[in-house]
Amino acid sequence: MKLVAYQKGKNENDRVGVLIDSERLADVEDLSQQFGEKVLPANPSDFYEDAAHHIEVLQQVLQKSSGYETLSLQDVRLGMPLGKAKKVICVGINYQEHIHEMKSQVPDFPVLFAKFDNAIIGPEDDIYYPSITEKLDYEVELTVVIGKTASKVKKEDAFDYIAGYTLANDTSARDLQKRTPQWLQGKSLDHTTPVGPWVVTKEEVENPHELNICSYVNGEVRQSSNTEHLIFDIPFLVNFISEIMTLEPGDIILTGTPDGVGFAMNPSGLLQDGDRVKLEIEGIGVMENQVKKV
Ligand code: MG
Repeated sequence: MKLVAYQKGKNENDRVGVLIDSERLADVEDLSQQFGEKVLPANPSDFYEDAAHHIEVLQQVLQKSSGYETLSLQDVRLGMPLGKAKKVICVGINYQEHIHEMKSQVPDFPVLFAKFDNAIIGPEDDIYYPSITEKLDYEVELTVVIGKTASKVKKEDAFDYIAGYTLANDTSARDLQKRTPQWLQGKSLDHTTPVGPWVVTKEEVENPHELNICSYVNGEVRQSSNTEHLIFDIPFLVNFISEIMTLEPGDIILTGTPDGVGFAMNPSGLLQDGDRVKLEIEGIGVMENQVKKV
């Protein structure tokens, strides 16, 4: 299943929808009211509060559903699929070639940093380019959505705690990121990190470690790799992070970006006002955002 957050009209609250095909969605609360034994939350944050269970209920509802109302994707605006971000945990330098281009070293442990909700935007929103930075960059990342409370999870059990996957652009202000050893100030600027366009539930992704992962700026290929090159893979990360902190449903993990970032290009390929950044991960989706100076 592909789950979206959508708005029917301006100023309406985001609601959870499920894609019926590549062009249409159905409202999850309405579907569950008509065909289920339990009404599912309309609000994305409430839905992901108990993600694994709600996804299971929705799968049963869909099997019983027929003749229901659908909406065209063209008639709605998509929001950040999980609503408000909870914990946003990012993994730095997790692809070998990216470590090389950033003149960094392979770490002994995953490099973790955080983003906050102020940075997170929806798949159709503009990426803000604030005047505090002159070096804004893109990073396509496969993003894991946690489905169940996860504490001290073994690697072999990691997928039991995952609800699905989405895409994120870990937009980074390289000048701010690099002026201190901690990267946070370059990684959590307001309105910079699109997530979406939907959450693909895990049963649709046979192997998340063999997906082509690409980014484009104004149509030019910038990053082109495969998730097989992740240094610390998804079970490793879920085990490692859940040993440190409890992961909750709706938390997300950005797993790192491959080589090809603008900062490492010669001449520089950093973002400019008006650029269009497109991210694509095989089997997950495509997300395109415009850069806007603010
Ligand atoms: Mg990153």
